[in-house]
Parts: sequence; structure tokens; C-alpha cells
Amino acid sequence: MKIDVIGSGSAFSEINNTSSIHIEDNSHNQWLIDCGPTIPRALWQRGIEVNAIQAIYFTHCHPDHCSGLAALVNQWKSFQRAEPLDIFSQLEQQPLLTSLVDLAIWPETDICFDIRWHDIADAFTWQHWEIETANTQHEISNRAIRLTVDGQTLFYSGDGRPTAASKVLMQDADLAFQECASFNALDDDASHGDLPDCIRLLKDTNVKKLGLYHCFDAALPNLRDAAGTIPNLFISYDGLMLNTADAL
Ligand SMILES: [Zn+2]
Repeated sequence: MKIDVIGSGSAFSEINNTSSIHIEDNSHNQWLIDCGPTIPRALWQRGIEVNAIQAIYFTHCHPDHCSGLAALVNQWKSFQRAEPLDIFSQLEQQPLLTSLVDLAIWPETDICFDIRWHDIADAFTWQHWEIETANTQHEISNRAIRLTVDGQTLFYSGDGRPTAASKVLMQDADLAFQECASFNALDDDASHGDLPDCIRLLKDTNVKKLGLYHCFDAALPNLRDAAGTIPNLFISYDGLMLNTADAL
């Protein structure tokens, strides 16, 4: 899998786009995970064709992870997208996303391509992709995701502190992205990750490469310094391109 980090920032980052990744497999299937307010422009700057992204997976519906959907669908409508779009979201959060689609096409009610809505199950398949999901510890329900595609495994946490279930999904992943807001340890009941917890994750889950993202701007200098001394750990950044098959 080729991973393009469209955004790596926290909700109100002045440095980075809101967090999102673009995934492309060996057959050129393309997914987007999360779509916050700054993501559409970052996609347009890449010149990604209007039919190219086949699916969007929403880890949860906080605005920094989903509000870009309105602008993106509006662009796809304006440039006559024709291919269907699969949207994966938690069922109870789906009405928030449908309201964003309604906004995108208003005052019309029909759109020029099909949107196929899917609930997020614990395990499911999409084409030849094998997908597992689990909750992290967050203010609202957030589904971390593990994708096994073309013999490689990717984990993306969305937002929130790791849980026993999300750690299972990280196990032995070729590449993992974990939300890490803070350099310093947070309380056990916090809704964000922190560096000491992420260092433990590296050891406990045996991931080959662990990228921290969604970091608070103020924490970035200390996180970068620390990551430089820890093998297999890196701080993600906008525009970073990775392949799950490559060594760090
Ligand atoms: Zn959130």
C-alpha cells in the first residue's frame, strides 16, 4: 500500500492539515480515511482525479475528521463525478454525514454519482481488502482500523487513546499511525494518546513502523526530538509518502 499523509495535525493546528491519509493499493484502488476541513484543498493540490477515490472511511464524526466532506462532494458534483462512492461510518453518526452531503448539493437533492452508505462492522471486506476495526478511548465513539491488502498491514487509529482492542489491531502491523496529542503522559482516562504510552505500544504490539500524528502544535518540537532517538518511531507530517513494503 502506498500511503500519502494528506494531513497530520490536530483539530486547530496552525501548522498542519487536519489528519487524513490517502491509500492506494497495487491495483490502484484508492481510499481516503477521514476528511477534515483542510483536506479537500490538499487533495485538489495533488490533482487527484474526481473519480479516483472509491471510498471514504470516517473514524468518527468530530468536525476535524469529517467536515471536509461537504466541500469534497461539492467539487465532485461540480466536475461530474460518475463513479459510485462507498462511505463507511458508524451508523449513529451517519446522519451528520448525510447532512454534509445535503449541504454539498443544495438546493438540488440529486447527485450525479451513487453514494453507498455502510455501517462499520468489527470485520468486513472491501474488494480484496480485509478490514478490522475497534474502538479507541475518545470523547465519542471512534473506530480505529486495520487494513490487510496485498500481503501488507496498515493500522490507523483515528482519534483517541489506545485500548486493549485497538492494540490487538496494531499487532505486527507493517505500518501504524497512532494519534498522539501530548509529549507528557496524560491521565489514564484521557481521550488522547501520549508519547510514553506510544513508546509502550511499539514494544507491546511489535509494529514495524509507528507514526505519531494529530499532535498538538506545541508538543511537536519535543516529540520530534524524542522520536529521533527511538528506533521505528517517527512523527508524521503533511505530504509524507510511505509504502507499507518499505523499511523505515
Ligand atoms: Zn475526535
